[in-house]
Amino acid sequence: MHEFSIAMNIIEIAETSALQHEATGVLEVEIEVGDFSGVNTEALEFAWESAVDSSLLLKNSKLIIHPVSLLLQCNNCHHCYAQANLFESCPSCGEFSTTIIRGRELKVKSVTLAEP
Ligand SMILES: [Zn+2]
Repeated sequence: MHEFSIAMNIIEIAETSALQHEATGVLEVEIEVGDFSGVNTEALEFAWESAVDSSLLLKNSKLIIHPVSLLLQCNNCHHCYAQANLFESCPSCGEFSTTIIRGRELKVKSVTLAEP
C-alpha cells in the first residue's frame, strides 16, 4: 500500500527529529498534502494508526493533515487561479498551458516533540 510507505517515511522524519533533540517522544506531526499529490488522506490516516504502534517514539502521536488545494499559473498571461482540476483553461485568457504552483506537495510541516 502506497500510503503505508508514506506513513513510514513521515515516522522516520519525526523519529530523526526527536533523536536530534533528545526528545522522549513525538506528540504531533503536521503534514501538508496537496489535492493532486495522489495521496488518499483517509488511507494515510489509517496507515498512520497502525504504523505508529511499532514506533516507541511515536506511539501516541497524532497526525494532522493540512490539505492544499490546487493553484495554477497560466503560462501565457501569468494569471494565478485556483482550480479543481488540471483540464480547464485559464479563466483570464483561455490558455491551456499551465504550471502547478501548489497542490502536489506532500511534506512534513512541523513535528511537535515531547519534553524530556
Ligand atoms: Zn492566461
